[in-house]
Amino acid sequence: MELEATSKMLSILDHMTEQASKVTCSACGAAVPSETPSTPPEARKPCPNCGSVARVLGVRLTDGVDVHDTVATKARHGEPEQVKL
Ligand SMILES: [Zn+2]
Repeated sequence: MELEATSKMLSILDHMTEQASKVTCSACGAAVPSETPSTPPEARKPCPNCGSVARVLGVRLTDGVDVHDTVATKARHGEPEQVKL
């Protein structure tokens, strides 16, 4: 059971990490796949959609914590008898 829950959690966290590494244009919201959050501002190229170099970096650790909590809650629902302990 624990291994299965851990596996699901890691799968979700991997997905979150993937999403968290996205960079989007701050002006129009278009994805900028050629950049990462670690790309320095001076290395940015203008948004292909609107030409802005303002970016929204998708690194939000609090979102990851929320997902973690949700997964833990679902895991407990799956094992009601153990929760009573
Ligand atoms: Zn844009």
